[in-house]
Amino acid sequence: MPAYEKALYLTFDDGPIPEVTEFVLDALEKYQAKGTFFCIGDNVRKHPHIFNKISAQGHTIGNHTFNHLNGWRTTDEDYLTNILQCDEQLPKATGLFRPPYGRIKQSQARRILPSKKIVMWDVLTGDFSPNISPDTCFKKTVKYSRSGSIILFHDSLKARKNMEYALPLTLDYFKNKGYKFLPL
Ligand SMILES: [Zn+2]
Repeated sequence: MPAYEKALYLTFDDGPIPEVTEFVLDALEKYQAKGTFFCIGDNVRKHPHIFNKISAQGHTIGNHTFNHLNGWRTTDEDYLTNILQCDEQLPKATGLFRPPYGRIKQSQARRILPSKKIVMWDVLTGDFSPNISPDTCFKKTVKYSRSGSIILFHDSLKARKNMEYALPLTLDYFKNKGYKFLPL
């Protein structure tokens, strides 16, 4: 990324699901924005047509395990198997992985790293939290985002209310400030 370019990396975890993921895709398209979707394998299996829309619109796909496993509570063997199960749902291999809950053991990370980059985030929108309002979610996102930030939203039912409010406003706010939204 050239130094003069202002860019943000929007990421969406836990989809694909009908309506919510489609809302995200429409919003991104409206602002010519590209993002990265860390998909749950079981959701890809259930909603292949939604997954195909993500790919068709040129967004990046990442692996988020097949069953949204918490690495801290899972044996390395089961964790790795679950990641492979997610990979099997994807028509093209992905080099990106995000651990659900951000929780992964060192021993698990070591085994993933040869084939995938582990991508965390620096801006947590909190969209999934029932304790924050849509407006707080938006303001928090604006306050903590810098050029180069990786911003975490969710295309999930739990996050829907906050995300559907905060995402379009975030796109609008940063687009007006000259930012681009790039895929990882
Ligand atoms: Zn997740």
